[in-house]
Amino acid sequence: MPMFDLTGRVALITGAASGIGAATARIFAEAGADVALAFYPPDGHDIRPVVAAVEAAGRRAITAPVDVSSTADVEGLVRAAENEFGAVHIVVANAGIARTVSLADLDDEAWNSVMEVDLHGAWRCFRAAIPSMQREKYGRLLATSSVAGTVSGWPEHSHYAAAKAGLVGLVKSLAVEFGGDGITANAVAPGVIRTPQSLDPVNSLGPAGVDAVAKKVPAGRVGEPDDIGYVYRFLASQEASYVNGQLLVVDGGRNLAGLD
Ligand code: NAD
Repeated sequence: MPMFDLTGRVALITGAASGIGAATARIFAEAGADVALAFYPPDGHDIRPVVAAVEAAGRRAITAPVDVSSTADVEGLVRAAENEFGAVHIVVANAGIARTVSLADLDDEAWNSVMEVDLHGAWRCFRAAIPSMQREKYGRLLATSSVAGTVSGWPEHSHYAAAKAGLVGLVKSLAVEFGGDGITANAVAPGVIRTPQSLDPVNSLGPAGVDAVAKKVPAGRVGEPDDIGYVYRFLASQEASYVNGQLLVVDGGRNLAGLD
């Protein structure tokens, strides 16, 4: 049996049509999991290449348009996964948005819109899937946090940083509440990863900013989506059963003191 094998597991992944979510879907399928993939049509990412990669790995995928700020959408995908595959064992609550807004302009709507997706979206996914995990006596609640809010701040992204820090409190609490059911809950804090989000020059770093960060990482590069997908594969596996309630920073060492 290979290590970090996910054969027989079913994983629900949000934000699965691009970036970290798409890489995680492929890597999970290569590890043996069937997947329920949530994509968000307004962003225009094509989910079909992700499904093709899953099928090329010999696994099955179902897909659904999901807005993680909608409880009905989230619960609908969990139900569809249970109908198709029998259960949900793993949730990767990965959907997220970044918006550049200085505090003076951060009105209620701007604050809430990021909270709804980046923090409340994860809570909705976890809440919907936990009963299935309890029946299976196996669960992995995984959230894409960020170094922003947990290691560093991010000017003009205080709502994003607060949401990403909130995920840490969420997984720590669920880790204790459901640890007796074979369920673990952990968050991953990526540093800069080359994805549509980080390459957006308006709401994030943009291509020049991403390249500038690469010079500050000991390895001389920013992260790729696979760097996070492989961490999720480990955390989703049986072998990670004693890792619970943790925040795992995956930034290539960028945020170690003394680098600048
Ligand atoms: P990305 O933009 O490719 O992925 C974000 C995904 O979330 C997209 O597929 C998008 O369609 C989806 N999404 C947006 N709004 C949604 C909604 N309302 N409902 C459902 N899905 C929605 O960028 P990414 O970097 O792969 O982002 C994945 C996660 O990683 C995000 O939570 C992001 O905040 C986090 N993150 C990224 C970096 C980075 O440097 N790229 C660093 C730290 C954390």
